[in-house]
Amino acid sequence: SSIYPQVDFFFKPGELFAFIDWLNFLEPVTSGKYNNAGENLDFRACAYIPIIQGCNNFCSYCVVPYRRGRERSRPAQDIIIEAEELAARGVREVTLLGQNVNAYGKDLNARNDLSDLLSILNEIKGLYRIRFLTNHPKDMSPRLVKSIASLDKVCHHICIPLQSGNDNILKAMNRHYTLDQYRALIGRIREEITDVALGTDIIVGFPDESEEQYLCTYQAIEEIRFDTVHVAAYSPRVEAAAFNKFQDSVPAEIKMQRLLKIEKLQKGISDAINQNLVGTEMEILVEGVKNGKWYGRTYSDKLTFLQSSDNLLGQLVEVGINKATPWALQGNQVLLVYK
Ligand code: SF4
Repeated sequence: SSIYPQVDFFFKPGELFAFIDWLNFLEPVTSGKYNNAGENLDFRACAYIPIIQGCNNFCSYCVVPYRRGRERSRPAQDIIIEAEELAARGVREVTLLGQNVNAYGKDLNARNDLSDLLSILNEIKGLYRIRFLTNHPKDMSPRLVKSIASLDKVCHHICIPLQSGNDNILKAMNRHYTLDQYRALIGRIREEITDVALGTDIIVGFPDESEEQYLCTYQAIEEIRFDTVHVAAYSPRVEAAAFNKFQDSVPAEIKMQRLLKIEKLQKGISDAINQNLVGTEMEILVEGVKNGKWYGRTYSDKLTFLQSSDNLLGQLVEVGINKATPWALQGNQVLLVYK
């Protein structure tokens, strides 16, 4: 707790029952926060559904395969029942979760893969949107890309971690793709899903990353133009392969400089992409209220604020976008309430 003073309790992923015991000591979560219209603000428009645990990929910087074990998919039927129950309770958007959702189903006898699962969930009444996190570039199949393009509820927003733009660093990370293969995947996705919004994760300062190797990553971000980039400085993990194999050789201040330069580059790119949306009309699923404004996300996962005296919670609305920043959009008027 001296390292992370903001953390009150820590539970390992397998300690579900300890977590439930602890929850029982707390006030009921639906203790009743109401807005002026008397509507219950604890209502959830969006929910997460875990579909696969663990990972078989063994990226050299990562502890997931050691801590959470090998890939274990939940039977499709369990996921479908959970999604149906959530939709019946008013949830309008579900995000399917897993360390590598592209591996979903490989370990099941039924052999339903993620595309099959998405097709079934797409039919659930009351559910408006489906998202999933996170993908691995080597495991993202052409079939999955086609499913995202063709299923109307599956959002056109995909997070595909690149991690580095340099092939030698990618090899040392044990990622099993090159920058060219990654580029080709992005090309195929953009061809099939023309309005796709792309997110990625980057690690800077991996052991022995030279300035030139770092610049490969910088240039890849400049070239590909993601909607969002999450950048982290490499930090050694005792259980991960890279810990024993490499020295954490890049000084902390260099890592920080590299991180900040990428954040600055991306801020400009995100701003340009979002400014292009000013003057357009976008569909928002309204999730809640913050500082007196309704907020929600577009189909492409852009956080959007709007003002309205109507109760829009859980509604799918069409909004005219009148302002944008690198991080969010603002809508001036609600043009249409769909559902
Ligand atoms: Fe698996 Fe992701 Fe960790 Fe790689 S980074 S081992 S894909 S969880």
